[in-house]
Formats: sequence, C-alpha cells, structure tokens
Amino acid sequence: MKAEFSKIWDVVRMRSLRARIFLILVLIGTVPSVFMESVIVSAYQKRAVEQRSAVVQNQLKILANHLITNEFLTDYNPNSPKKQRSHEIIEAELEMLANLYEGRVMIIGGNYKVLLDTYNISEGKTMISEEVVKCFKGENLSNYDSEHGYIEMTTPIVNTADDGDSLIRGVMLTSISDSVIISMMKVLNRNALSLEIVTIILVIVFSYIISGILTGPFERITKAIGAIRAGYTNEPVSVYSYTETKHISDAFNQLLSKMKVVDDSRKEFVSNVSHELKTPLTSMKVLSDSLLADPDAPAELYREFMQDIGSEIDRENRIITDLLALTKMDMNSSDINISSVDIGELAETILKRLRPIARKKDVELVLEENREITADVDEVKMSLIMTNLVENAIKYNKEHGTVRVLIDGDIQNFIFRVEDTGCGIPEESLPFIYDRFYRVDKSHSREIGGTGLGLAITRSAVLLHRGTIEAESTEGSGSIFTVTIPLSYVGD
Ligand code: ADP
Repeated sequence: MKAEFSKIWDVVRMRSLRARIFLILVLIGTVPSVFMESVIVSAYQKRAVEQRSAVVQNQLKILANHLITNEFLTDYNPNSPKKQRSHEIIEAELEMLANLYEGRVMIIGGNYKVLLDTYNISEGKTMISEEVVKCFKGENLSNYDSEHGYIEMTTPIVNTADDGDSLIRGVMLTSISDSVIISMMKVLNRNALSLEIVTIILVIVFSYIISGILTGPFERITKAIGAIRAGYTNEPVSVYSYTETKHISDAFNQLLSKMKVVDDSRKEFVSNVSHELKTPLTSMKVLSDSLLADPDAPAELYREFMQDIGSEIDRENRIITDLLALTKMDMNSSDINISSVDIGELAETILKRLRPIARKKDVELVLEENREITADVDEVKMSLIMTNLVENAIKYNKEHGTVRVLIDGDIQNFIFRVEDTGCGIPEESLPFIYDRFYRVDKSHSREIGGTGLGLAITRSAVLLHRGTIEAESTEGSGSIFTVTIPLSYVGD
C-alpha cells in the first residue's frame, strides 16, 4: 500500500521517467494539432468574410452603375414623376440587396448628404465618416467588426465620361450581417472540437502505451535485481534493450561478482581461521589424552608434554594477536595515528629488538641509511611493517646469512627495503604471499612460528599509508621486499 502510494506520488512529482515521457508525448501530440486547428479555423473565417464581401461588392458595383445610368445622384428628386419610376426600381433593388444580406445600404451624395437609407433613418442627414471621406478619395474599404457582427464596406459611385475621365459622384456605405459566417463557423468549430477530443484521446492512449514500452526495460532490470535480492536466482541481469540498460546490467553484474568474491573470501577466511585455531587445540588434546591414558607416565614425560602444550598455547596466542591486528587494520583509516617520525631511528630500534633472534641463527643485520628521513606516519603501524619484514628476512634466512635494511627517499616518498640471503620465494607463490594464512612451505613456516598473517598485516598497514609493497625473489638466493610510502600522509 505504502509502495503503491509512493509510486503514485513519484508520478505526481514527475519523478517517474514514464510519467515524463508520457507528458512529453502528450504535449508533442496535442499542442501542434490544437494550434493547427485553431489556425485553420481562423484562416477559414477570414476567407469566408473576404468571399462574402467580394460577392456583395460585385452586386454593389452593378447597382452603382445603375445609379449612374439612371442619373440617380445628379438629378435626385423624389417628387419628380418622370424620375420616380426608375428611382423606385433602384430603391427596390437596394432593398432586396439589404434584405438578402441582412444589412443596410446608404447612398451618400457628393455633398455628404444621405440620399437613400434602406433603414429610412438617416435620409437627408450629413454623413462625414472617415470611411466615406476616404472612399470619395478613391479608397475602397471593407472592415469586419466581429464584436458587433457585421461587415462594413464602401463602394464609390463612379461616373466615367466619354473621354475616359472618371468622377466619384457618391458613395454607397453598406453593412451586412455576418450571421451566415457565424453559423458556418459554429458548425466548423463543433467539428474541430470533436476532432480535437478524438485526437487528444488517441494521443493519450498512444503516449501511455509508448511510455510503457520505452520504460519497460528499466522495469525489467528492477524486477531482475529484485529477484536476485530476494534470493530466487543468482543469474546475472541481462537487459540489453538499450545501451543504458546494458550499462546498468553490466555494472550490476560486476558488483554482484565483486560481492561474490568478497563473500567467498570471507567464507574462506572464516574456515582458515577455524582451522588455524583448531590445530594447536588438537595438538594439546592429543598431548593431554596421551598423558591421561598412561597413569604411570614418568615426570619427565609430563614436563616434556607440558612444555609442548605451553608452546601450542603460545602459538594460539600469536594467531589471535595477529588476527586482532589484521582486523584492526582492515577496519578503516580513522584508526590511524599520524605523527612525524624519524624513520632511521625507528628502524634502528626495530633492528636492536630483533638482534637476539638474528644472533640465534648467526644472521647479520645491516642498516644502510642513504638519507635522513622524517615522515608523517603511524609509528605503531610503521614499526609493525618493519618488524614483520625484518623478522621474515631472519626467519627464512639461512645460517650465517645477512639481512640488509636500506632507507632512502626522494622529495615525495621514502623507501624501506629489506634484502635477505635466505631460501627465497618460488615465482608462482609470489602473487599469494600477502593472502591471509598463505605459506609457501606450511610445515617449515609453522616450525619457525609463522602464522601466515604477517605479510597480510604488513600490506594492510602499507595501504593505510597510501603506500605500495613489492617483492622480488630468486629461489635459493634471497628475497627483496620494497615498501614505498609518501612522506606526508594523504588522508581520504
Ligand atoms: P608467516 O607468519 O608464515 O611468516 P607471512 O605472511 O609473514 O607468514 O609470510 C607468508 C609466507 O611468505 C611465509 O610463510 C613464507 O613462506 C613466505 N615468505 C615471507 N617472507 C619471506 C622471505 N623473506 N623469504 C622467503 N619466504 C618468505
């Protein structure tokens, strides 16, 4: 219900792509057609007015000729019996014209006097309107007054002499009703409106369908992702209808496989941790069981087994300490405690601490400081990096071997390099040495107290400092580990 409401709300706020496409299509479909229809209707109205005016003008011109031939203007005397007959005919013709077009015709003489008015209102009055004056000057006018519903026009009554000279003797001022045009326009408007309604309905239906088809692939992507999220399937999303949906599908699939890798490595890590923690426990159990099984076991055997149990406890302790260090390192960089550290001094302290172990194997520790380096680092993590690398170089060294530690740098980074003369690392193992619990030679590493976590911890600490770690090795003759770290710490 809530989801439905938020869907509708999104549509109302035009946040839905489908709603936007729908609206755009409706606008594109309806606005031009409504506009075109109104243009066509008004053009038709204009044309109808022009046509009607032209027809009336023609008839008025014929009448104007009659007026001239019957000397209506030059000799207008309604009381003269001789003229009466012909004038009556003209008056009847004008009356007929006025009735036919539901209008009014006025004949205005040269002195602006109204000689005849089919409404019989203005006869004898003077009519000096702008239109009449202009018509006397030879300018024909035709105006449509849509507000009052009539077309007004002026027609000159021209007398052309035998020598070709023409003289405007009078003006016919005519106004006719537009009722025929209006009733025609009403029918036309009604038809146009029906057509518009049909067009709008069709456009809305069409836009609804098209917007649905166009946004369909996005709906399909959402459904496919929803199915994966719900756990129905693990199939990759493959909606390739558009380039955009292809990009989304590909990006999602990449994310999915990345999450799978993370999940797999988490599972592997948990199983490795369990296994590593179980091994010392199993040894201790075996040792204690064998002591319990033999009630007459001598005290020396007890001491020996108890020593073994003690070293297994130490081992368990080391694994847990390393695991805690690793998880701490993995958490985030906000844990980092940066201060200005003299790298040479720190290295000297570390080497001093490790010298007793080196001495046991008669391994020589050499420190070469090419430059005095002071860098912004986390001192604890930096000493962890140095300790792990130098400790490994001693552990995996041969008797009477050498460990050479080099400190160097440029204006941006400093280098901490540890070179040993030990057993080296096979080339195929090099890519895995930073993996948790990875050991080239499991039994040897365990014998010398390795947990397989040292280099994983070292790498995490280097990465926290935005540095890099590289290993080169020749099997049988030694390894070189090079750590490069920026002199100034660059945070997130
Ligand atoms: P461990 O605690 O077993 O030493 P590390 O993570 O420190 O674990 O190292 C992983 C593995 O890489 C080791 O088990 C060892 O086989 C190999 N390795 C690390 N450093 C060296 C080195 N200097 N010389 C030879 N092998 C090394």
